[in-house]
Amino acid sequence: MQKQVLIAGGGIGGLAAALGSARAGWEVRLFERAGAFTEVGAGVQIGPNVVRRLQAWGLHRALLAVASFPERLRVRSALTGAELGALRLGATAVERYGAAYATIHRADLHGLLLDVARKSSLVHLNLDHQVERHEEQGDAVTVRLVRGDGKVIEVEGDALIGADGLRSGTRTQLLGEAATRVSGHLAYRAVLRQDALPQALRSNDVTVWLGPNLHVVQYPLRRGELLNLVAIRHGQPPADLDSWDHGVNAADLESALAQTCTPLQDLVRVVPQVGEGWRLWPLLDRPPVAGPQEMARGLVALLGDAAHPMRPYLAQGAGMAIEDAVELEKSLAMHDVDVALCLRRYALNRWQRNARVQERSRRNGQIFHASGPLRWGRDAAMGLLGERLLDQPWLYRG
Ligand code: FAD
Repeated sequence: MQKQVLIAGGGIGGLAAALGSARAGWEVRLFERAGAFTEVGAGVQIGPNVVRRLQAWGLHRALLAVASFPERLRVRSALTGAELGALRLGATAVERYGAAYATIHRADLHGLLLDVARKSSLVHLNLDHQVERHEEQGDAVTVRLVRGDGKVIEVEGDALIGADGLRSGTRTQLLGEAATRVSGHLAYRAVLRQDALPQALRSNDVTVWLGPNLHVVQYPLRRGELLNLVAIRHGQPPADLDSWDHGVNAADLESALAQTCTPLQDLVRVVPQVGEGWRLWPLLDRPPVAGPQEMARGLVALLGDAAHPMRPYLAQGAGMAIEDAVELEKSLAMHDVDVALCLRRYALNRWQRNARVQERSRRNGQIFHASGPLRWGRDAAMGLLGERLLDQPWLYRG
């Protein structure tokens, strides 16, 4: 009989898990608590490690239609505007890693996964279904769901994948209460139409502006039609940590950037004039994954932010969720092996890479936001080593 996997969560991780599982020949029942599939308006960078996997899933053309493929990553001083270093992307990334470096609107990435999921006869998507609890009995796992109309139902499957994000209930039940930590960093995000910007502010590169206790990243989306901006600074989060969408006073950010160079201030100041304004996203995280038992136990596995939320300083959170899903596909394809062993193998093959990316993301944050002697050392090293410092072969080849 065909095996059935239950998935909690329909974000980028949950949909990728659905595709991976269906590709392995499993029937999929995905439960998303929201009433519609949506992704907040912002971009993600996806390195060659992720683009390669999406291409292997047959999504090459779909990506070409909606993503941007920047030619260069530039690192600039937020204080002086000087270029500190640059990394060739474009054809160089393809030559080095077999795939391009892409930047994409989250909704577009989510949308192209959703398109494939909707076309698969093996994937059943259920909105308005909140996963409440799960219980393992013998070789089955049952989830208790509350539907949008208030009705409580139970569904049984052969495995459960918790892809229910940073505040994952599946994780809490599986591993016990492991609180997320307030990182003390705030992310402000904005998406602007490039044609609404003065010529001098338009750009098709990835540019990272580094300053003491802050940095700003800008990159194109939708084949250059849009410009994504993310500013991250140290600061205390608002009381409501669950919300991704806070209306914020642009003046807060502008005053945090008061010491920065004119071109960066011009860019930040233009946001309220041409776009919908800044949205605030308090960053939470957890310590890095400490072993495979934190990614799978018995018939339940965790994937994406539910397993390994990470700070955005390597731009790999969604990427690691997609890598997880590709590994899940390989593990679930072992049809003559016990399901618990398949999931154990998934966890064994993923936990160290996820932990390393979590660790390196955190370290990058310290380097990005350095002040004093560390900042001098960073800038000097970037000048001396250039691409060798900025490139990440261990990550993009993996
Ligand atoms: P989520 O997107 O959180 O999805 C979880 C889903 O589960 C949601 O739809 C939720 O409604 C649902 N859910 C929750 N609980 C339940 C329940 N009980 N029952 C049913 N459904 C439930 N990543 C990159 O790869 N590149 C980048 O450049 C990048 N930039 C970033 C910049 C910032 C500022 C931040 C904060 C993050 C960035 N990331 C980036 C990280 C990336 O956005 C996340 O890692 C990724 O989106 C996580 O996807 P997910 O599906 O695991 O979780």
